[in-house]
Amino acid sequence: MSEDRPGPRLPGKVALVSGAASGIGAETARQFARHGAAVVLADVDEAGATAVAEAITAAGGDAWATRLDVVDEAGWRAVVAAAEARHGRLDVLANVAGVSGRGEMDMAAIAARGGHSGARVGFEVGDLSLAAWNRVMDVNSTGVFLGTREVIPAMRRAGGGSIINISSICGLAGSFANAAYHASKGAVRLLTKATAAQHAADRIRANSIHPGFVDTPMTRAGHANNAERTARLAATPLGVFGQPYDIAMGCVYLASDEARWVTGSELVIDGGFMAM
Ligand code: NAP
Repeated sequence: MSEDRPGPRLPGKVALVSGAASGIGAETARQFARHGAAVVLADVDEAGATAVAEAITAAGGDAWATRLDVVDEAGWRAVVAAAEARHGRLDVLANVAGVSGRGEMDMAAIAARGGHSGARVGFEVGDLSLAAWNRVMDVNSTGVFLGTREVIPAMRRAGGGSIINISSICGLAGSFANAAYHASKGAVRLLTKATAAQHAADRIRANSIHPGFVDTPMTRAGHANNAERTARLAATPLGVFGQPYDIAMGCVYLASDEARWVTGSELVIDGGFMAM
């Protein structure tokens, strides 16, 4: 038990982070390592994940990287097996990989209609092709399901574990953002609760984190648009965008033994967005 123990919060733990090449995933991997975990960084961007892992190692941490497309069932199996083979256990999974779906939308047509300003005008359900819907659901929802399913046997072998799923404020309320993104993040919220209920007996905890607007490569285009930036800041009571660190520290808490009685919960880290 770690009560009253100062210092790093994750010593001896082995953590797998998806989407670890960039933004929130990269910072989560860095903070996990800083708090004493051995970290496996997985991403479709293998070069990016490797660069983050090398920086962690150079700073004295324990990290390595591998390519993983979260929609690839066999890929998950291989990464989990490699992590267990190398470290003998797996204690933490942070499902961070995700896509906004903007790249799948016809932005020219949406702009011609008067959106996307980011506030009261934007995407409409009718803008979504089936392919665009499926892509967002595949990465953001099915990817989290596959990761969850594949780590459970390893966590059972480890005597328990912590699964941390990055949802969004978009998983809690609707808006003029991509409806597929909302639906995919809402699915993550309830997949997390079902996992928590079904695997508490295995001492596996599962919690979702709901970030507000965070400065990362995913939001770069939106935050470079003055109207969208202004609308998002106006909707954020603390008046600034979040940084990846703000979300990563939530992950550290949920991964740690300090959160031993926390499962099925929704940790909202959003500068107050959901309070209004
Ligand atoms: P990011 O900087 O774009 O990082 C996402 C990472 O996931 C990228 O390295 C990306 O690789 C990778 N990825 C995408 N598809 C993948 C796949 N199929 N398999 C494995 N890796 C994949 O974005 P971020 O802002 O840090 O987002 C991290 C998570 O937070 C996402 O789930 C996002 O929905 C969520 N979130 C973000 C915000 C925000 O304001 N930034 C708010 C709420 C929730 P590529 O770049 O090569 O695609």
